[in-house]
Order: sequence, then structure tokens, then C-alpha cells
Amino acid sequence: MGQWIIVCVGFCVLVVVVIPSVIVRGCGFNVYPPTPRLSSFDHAVKVFVVSSNEICDMQLEEYIKGVVAAEMPASFGIEALKAQAVAARTFTLRRMTALGGPGCTANPGADICTDHRHCQAWISQDELRKRMGYINYPIYAGKIQDAIDSTKGLVATYQGNLIEAYYHAASGGATDNSEEVWSSPVPYLRGVSTEFESKEPDFREEVSFTMDDLEKKLDTSLKERKSTTYKVAGKDVQVISEERMDKPIEILDVSRAGRVKEIRIGDKVFSGYTLRALLGLSSTKMTYRIADNKVYIVTTGYGHGVGMSQYGANAMAEAGKNFEEILKHYYQGIQVLDYAEAETR
Ligand SMILES: [Zn+2]
Repeated sequence: MGQWIIVCVGFCVLVVVVIPSVIVRGCGFNVYPPTPRLSSFDHAVKVFVVSSNEICDMQLEEYIKGVVAAEMPASFGIEALKAQAVAARTFTLRRMTALGGPGCTANPGADICTDHRHCQAWISQDELRKRMGYINYPIYAGKIQDAIDSTKGLVATYQGNLIEAYYHAASGGATDNSEEVWSSPVPYLRGVSTEFESKEPDFREEVSFTMDDLEKKLDTSLKERKSTTYKVAGKDVQVISEERMDKPIEILDVSRAGRVKEIRIGDKVFSGYTLRALLGLSSTKMTYRIADNKVYIVTTGYGHGVGMSQYGANAMAEAGKNFEEILKHYYQGIQVLDYAEAETR
């Protein structure tokens, strides 16, 4: 009897522990489930909500409603809101860990977060009601709901794959190729500059920093050591002093659309992307001047300048373009498909 118990326990250990571990190790230990087809996706998104500091499970279309409300003024044309819904849905699905995406890299366990600087903004319906007021809320919430319902399940794809549907507020007159702002070229993220971009508000903004401020924020030095030789009692005496650089700032490279790609400030070189983050600039489409021991930076546009411009989308909607035309303008060579029919990456 005792022997049978030992045999049974041994068999269970073999089936439950040993065999699976051998299979897993045999596959290199990092085993992920095969990427499922989009049609098998159960519509649940794990959203890290920054305001409550927790991960919430949300139904995809409900979540997209909160994204469109937060990311685009509801007063925009309905076709712009629809384009935003498709872009936000595509952006989200591309990040879904259940579909083989990376999730929100800042918040482990979440597919996406509500920090607009990291993933995409989102607002709850309660918060939206408070912001809009009880009279405007039903009007605008109904309009957003229309944009969601009429594009339900639609995504943007390139050669059968979900695209990286980057978007920004305003291009300042022209969007840029992805590789001019980040590092890698993406075939559908090409710069555009048409009448629609020129109709956007330019979001011109001037900010200023004292030289000390700039040095602290960028951890750089705007001074250089200079040596001066004096004659003292017939002998040369060398005096080393620290003085402001003659040219403390120098733009080294700009994109086709005029965004700063590389800039030297003091003794350090920054990418435009990094500088924007460190100084909290609205855009890298910038000029600067130095006066009264201060640096004045003027920016135009708002956001990184890659993919869909939201104000440009609205200009297109006002000109009678539909959401598909808007998406195909900002994401070149794409198709708009129902994700149940689209192939996975
Ligand atoms: Zn995130």
C-alpha cells in the first residue's frame, strides 16, 4: 500500500512540476503565449489611473471614450473625433500585453497609463461632467459617444499590422518623419505640410530662463575658463578666470519641418526630444535669443510633431474630409479595418 502512495505522489510531482519545467526550460525559459488573433481579444484593458494610483480593468470602448474626451476638445468636428477614436484604439491595442505588446513600460502590470506624457490621457465620465457642467455634458458626451460607436472596433493597420498611432496637439505648420524626432524611420510616420497644417493655430509661446536656471535644469555649464596674461613687475602673470561662453547655445541640427534635432547648451549636447522634456517646452520647433542674462525660447506648435496633428485633423474635418481621409493623411499607406478582421502583428 505504502509503495502505491509513493508511486502516486511521484507521478503527480512528475506531471505537475517536472515535465512543465522541462518544457519551459527547453524553450529558453522565457515562454510567452503565442500572439492571439485580435478577434480573440476579450476587450479588457488594464489601465493604470494616475489620479488614483491603481490599475483598473476597463472595457476597451469605454476606455477609448475617456481617452477621446481627454485628448481632444469635444467642440472639434465629428470626423476629427472619429479619427481620434481610431488612433487611440490602435495605440491602445498595440500596447496590450494580451496581444503581445509591451504594456505601459512605466507601470508594470498595466497595458497603458493615463499620463499623457507617457501613454495617453484619459478622463472618467464623472470628471468630464464636472469639467463641462451639467448643461454641456450631455451634448458633448453624446457627440463623443457617436464618434466611438460609429468607429467601433476600427483600427489603423500597415501591411496587416497595427500601426504605432502617435499623435500630438498641433504641428506648428508641418509634421515630421519619425526618424527626425526619434531614432527609427517608420514607413507610415512621414512628415506632411499641406493647407490643413497651415490652418492650425500656431500655439506660439515664449518662455525664459536665467542662465543659472538653465545650468541647473540641464546640469550643464555655460561658463568657460579663460586665461589672461598680465605684466607684473616686468614678469608675465597668468590669471585663470571663469567667464560666460561667447556662444553658450548653438542649434546643431534641425528637421525638415524646423524642429531642433540637436542643440548644444553650454558644454553639453542634447537631442530636441530630451531638451523639451527637461525644460517642459511645448514643442521643439523653436528659436532662441539671449538678452539681459536670460535665454528666451519661442516655440510653435504643441507636442512631438509625429503622426496625427489633432488641430490639423480638425482643420481637415472642417474642410469636409472624413475620418478615414484624415487618418490616411497623417499615417501614410495605411488601411482602416475592423480589428476582428485585421491580422495580428
Ligand atoms: Zn504609460
